[in-house]
Amino acid sequence: MKKQTIEHAAERAGLELPAETIEQIQVFVARLLEKNKVMNLTAITEEEEIADSHLLDSFLLLPYLRGKSMIDVGTGAGFPGMLVKLARPELKLVLVDSTRKRISFLEDLIEELGLSEVSAVHGRAEDLAHMSEYREKFDTAVARAVSSLDILLELCLPMVKPGGRFLAMKGKEDELDLAAKAIPLLGGGKATADHYLLPGTDKQRTMVIVPKEKPTKQRYPRPFAAIKKSPL
Ligand code: SAH
Repeated sequence: MKKQTIEHAAERAGLELPAETIEQIQVFVARLLEKNKVMNLTAITEEEEIADSHLLDSFLLLPYLRGKSMIDVGTGAGFPGMLVKLARPELKLVLVDSTRKRISFLEDLIEELGLSEVSAVHGRAEDLAHMSEYREKFDTAVARAVSSLDILLELCLPMVKPGGRFLAMKGKEDELDLAAKAIPLLGGGKATADHYLLPGTDKQRTMVIVPKEKPTKQRYPRPFAAIKKSPL
């Protein structure tokens, strides 16, 4: 991908990235397209589409970050987490995915780019959320294109520190109507949603913001089958 395409995506998010970061993103996109020929990492393969739907969309998370640590749940090929890390190298980041091959792709990339304070973890969010290493440990948890908001809340809110927040990156709908019961049960506070267009496109996006107020009860998250069968 041309430097200018990356710069243009960054500019539309109000960012000016150092040359070194642009080069890292070039490596990321090159590896993504190479590996995508042999495994399914992204359905989007056209460069302008990657620039809008993956790079720009991920950059738009940056103004919402608070604190030092973030977990990206269901990161896939690293969206939005890897882009956020490249733009904010000081962030302590954990990338989680339940698909081994996607985590292997990210491990290779982290090594090639020489990144520190980022780990790619193979596992399911509902299991990791019961481990002391991950439970109530993050200033921010984020999920993009993983599941409906009611399910995501049970997967993600237990990993957020009280005082931190969960950010759900959504398309047109904020899905807050699905979440009215789940949020208080999981220790969340008053949720809000920002609606915006991806700058320079007509694509509608929504950032759902759920503050964590109190620790989550130990019974959550439940096993995935129970979550799926009867979302909170
Ligand atoms: N966030 C990325 C990927 C979205 S696809 C993007 O926006 O492009 C959803 C990803 O979530 C898949 O890679 C899938 O393996 C992962 N996933 C689904 N349920 C999960 C769970 N319970 N725990 C961890 N990862 C999960």
